[in-house]
Amino acid sequence: MISGITGKATFSCSKCGAVYSLKRDDFDFNAESGSERGMGAETQYVSEYEVECNDCGQEISIKFEVWEYPVGAINHTTHSVTGANDVESEFDFMSSPEKSSGEDENNRG
Ligand SMILES: [Zn+2]
Repeated sequence: MISGITGKATFSCSKCGAVYSLKRDDFDFNAESGSERGMGAETQYVSEYEVECNDCGQEISIKFEVWEYPVGAINHTTHSVTGANDVESEFDFMSSPEKSSGEDENNRG
């Protein structure tokens, strides 16, 4: 099981062309289905996003799907969309907490 999915996406309103972008906080992925395959478990994660266009009031809804297979790897991603065009998305599994690095204490002159 992974700790979570992070990602970003952009899309434009199909009515007026206003461009929107989504950040990791806008996604809420939940495991929706799974099955066993040759290399182990396959899991489908789904995040749905709904918004009303600020400019024209168009209702936009996007359903993002991420397939994990084999465990720990993104096999493929898909989306289905209503009211928007030019959807581009990019997702990653969160593996480990961020560490601050770059310290250099072992300087020897
Ligand atoms: Zn619009």
